[in-house]
Amino acid sequence: MRTAEIKRRFLAHFEANGHTVVPSAALPAIDDPNLLFVNAGMVQFVPYFLGQRTPPYRRAVSVQKCLRTPDIDEVGKTSRHGTFFQMNGNFSFGDYFKEGAIALAWELSTKPAAEGGFGLDPERIWATVYLDDDEAIDIWHKQVGLPMERIVRRGKADNYWSMGIPGPCGPCSELYLDRGPEYGPDGGPDVDEDRYLEFWNLVFMQFERGPGTTKEDYPILGELPAKNIDTGMGLERVAALLQGVDNLYEIDEVRPILTRAAELTDKSYGARSGHAAAQSHPDDVRLRVVADHVRTALMMIGDGVTPANEGRGYVLRRIMRRAVRAMRLLGWQEGPVLPQLLPVARDAMAPSYPELATEFGRISQYAYGEEEAFLTTLKQGTTILDTAVAQTKAAGSTTLTGDQAFLLHDTYGFPIDLTLEIAAEQGLSVDETGFRQLMAQQRARAKADAQARKTGHADLSSYRSALEAGGPVEFTGYAEAARESRVRALLAGDGSTLSVAGEGDEVELVLDATPFYAEGGGQQPDWGVVTVGGGQVEVHDVQQPLPGLVVHRGRVVRGEVRAGETGYAEIDVYRRRAISRSHTATHLVHQTMRSFLGESATQAGSLNAPGRLRFDFNTPSAVPPSVLHDVEQQVNEVLLGDLEVRAFVTSLAEARRLGAVALFGEKYGDQVRVVEVGDYARELCGGTHVARSGQLGLVKILHEASIGAGVRRVEALVGMDAFGFLAREHLLVARLAELYRVPAEQVADRVEQTVAQLRDAERELEKLRAQLVLAGAGSLADSARDVAGVALVATEAPEGAGGNDVRTLAQEIRGKVPASRPAVVAVAARSGGKASLVVAVNGAARERGLDAAALVKGALSGRGGGNADLAQGGGVPAAEAPTLLAAVERLVASA
Ligand code: ATP
Ligand code: MG
Repeated sequence: MRTAEIKRRFLAHFEANGHTVVPSAALPAIDDPNLLFVNAGMVQFVPYFLGQRTPPYRRAVSVQKCLRTPDIDEVGKTSRHGTFFQMNGNFSFGDYFKEGAIALAWELSTKPAAEGGFGLDPERIWATVYLDDDEAIDIWHKQVGLPMERIVRRGKADNYWSMGIPGPCGPCSELYLDRGPEYGPDGGPDVDEDRYLEFWNLVFMQFERGPGTTKEDYPILGELPAKNIDTGMGLERVAALLQGVDNLYEIDEVRPILTRAAELTDKSYGARSGHAAAQSHPDDVRLRVVADHVRTALMMIGDGVTPANEGRGYVLRRIMRRAVRAMRLLGWQEGPVLPQLLPVARDAMAPSYPELATEFGRISQYAYGEEEAFLTTLKQGTTILDTAVAQTKAAGSTTLTGDQAFLLHDTYGFPIDLTLEIAAEQGLSVDETGFRQLMAQQRARAKADAQARKTGHADLSSYRSALEAGGPVEFTGYAEAARESRVRALLAGDGSTLSVAGEGDEVELVLDATPFYAEGGGQQPDWGVVTVGGGQVEVHDVQQPLPGLVVHRGRVVRGEVRAGETGYAEIDVYRRRAISRSHTATHLVHQTMRSFLGESATQAGSLNAPGRLRFDFNTPSAVPPSVLHDVEQQVNEVLLGDLEVRAFVTSLAEARRLGAVALFGEKYGDQVRVVEVGDYARELCGGTHVARSGQLGLVKILHEASIGAGVRRVEALVGMDAFGFLAREHLLVARLAELYRVPAEQVADRVEQTVAQLRDAERELEKLRAQLVLAGAGSLADSARDVAGVALVATEAPEGAGGNDVRTLAQEIRGKVPASRPAVVAVAARSGGKASLVVAVNGAARERGLDAAALVKGALSGRGGGNADLAQGGGVPAAEAPTLLAAVERLVASA
């Protein structure tokens, strides 16, 4: 039975029994800050189980895409763990309980295949229950008819469920299938979890638990008012059972990848392994790792994860790297291997997930780009690591130092897990503690740097008391440009508190309320003036060193400023407007990029400064100029549409429902501010914006470039700056057209022609120069002087002779001296303020022991190179050219 059919039957069975079919959530677990990836079917229903929301149905069924990073080390070694897998689950919210859950699971598992069930042999099914769950035992034994020998009581670690925090909890009951003695010893799940394969877990949410110190140690507070059911059936595990294969890497959705990997590396999979997982040959384990990881990478990128150095992206990176490494260990030596494997994974999975086929262009771009980058890293890092390994062994040690691992990581981008793996293959361990300490130190340094930049001084205590003295500072700048407010605190540049500051002093001001926008969310701070009594402060920076605390930094330009007095704060409206234009433009560029490049082109950073913006976004490869041009055009059309820009505060859930774009990795509270430009762009944002898109005037995209793996940067000008740029370009073209005396459209052609002509002329010139230089060769040969029986020509090359010319000249002169006469030719040349020397020695002179390389080195105190008949060197000041020639003469004379 194919996997897709098992999935279909599962949904049909529960739908027929009153369950609402709910689609899978995407793999990234975006609503749970503690979870990177959805790891069970119940994750998307958590708010229902916790009673935070009322479910719109009492019974639900789903096939959930899951990812379990902790299982990564099991992959290939057991028969039942994938990193990616699909969990089929049925859920009851205060509806049926143990009896219903057990009966529904039993029915589907054992109903004959011809009647729409899975047709598992009831005689081979075992069930586990929690120690004291006699209720479940009764149902299994008395209602289902399972014999007591096949019902096993197990402890809290295996058969008790909670979310690790106070809330619902309860006993579980799991279904196992006995796959027979060729998979392991008798005795049930307690003895062998490979022979007895768990395929379905039924969780009975029955009690409420309190806080606890460990996973198993917490008090049970009492019964839940409404009891729930949460089950998980491993789709791949059932597929393995029904397809009669040993493990989940051999099912229809995975096996084609494995087969392809085996073909590519010339391995015959399974030839040297037994049925049981424990009898696997290492190559077979590697093939399974490849198959699993390639499929997982496909599913992750399909759901919008992109490779990165932390978080979800790092999990993806690690998985892809492991796949590539496993292929190398299997003997694959050619270049990139994912182009051979990923399409196979796509073909296996697309029947269930058609979007993988339609999105494959984007998915493969990321995957292939990542592999290319990794292969480069691998090449560099491996050389360094090999050296480190050799050194370690030579020193008689078995541990790579933390320093070495850190250097590999920090300088060569070599991931620590890879260092661990390669070291282990060499029988070495790694001082991981040392490594982690160095990492922590580095992080601390980076953090302190960032903090110091933000706060100006590392000591936050005066900021804390300023915050405590009056609570969060109210920001009023969305609506007004100036306001009166009390000076809550006055600080000196070093963070100490002041009561008064005088003219020329650099100060920091905290007001109770302010129209000044503090730098944040990529938006530059406001500038302006705060007048207090007779004093005035010019504000040139505004920061938020603590959440809710706005600090104005500036210089007292007039009079005295006192803490506690009421002041008048006024922003530079001209600057603010220019910044707001940039910020609105950034939203438009972001939205337009997404519509051209796909949802995954998400913002990775931005800068909104007066008149210009910078926008970083995730995308695997360069954006073609034509696309950039289209983006620019569309953005400007939106400006002409003069859409209304509106900001409002709403709940996070409502914002999501409206499709507002949230920035990846940002933390949002329950209430969020949404900024929308007409119906065109909608984004969570705390920044300031224009009132209508028409106020932007003009947006000009300047260029696009890479600023790191998978991250590109676009820069653009807005408003008058954009206009000024275009006007300048226009003037430039007009001037060129005038110089060339052609219409503007023909300037480019003319430049091209001119460049080509110039190149031809240069070539001609070079030829002539060489001829000129060589023309003198005959007379120079004739002028040879006899030095100790050797014909010596020592001369300076004509001015302007290039390196090649000089060499050719020396050889030409040598050729003009009769071969029977020993000859040494030394030509010195001056160019670029330096002198160089070429020496040519003929055969007769070489027989007398003269050596061109030795002569050059002799004249240049060891520098230079070549061989016995022709050598050269240089690099001394031009004025030394005659000295070089004299030195050669001396050497010849004394030879
Ligand atoms: P195991 O002990 O075998 O790791 P588990 O107790 O972690 O399983 P559950 O958390 O109960 O499993 O998940 C419910 C079901 O999901 C399991 O019965 C199994 O069929 C399936 N499952 C769990 N982990 C994986 C995995 N890594 N790969 C494939 N299927 C899995
Ligand atoms: Mg597990």
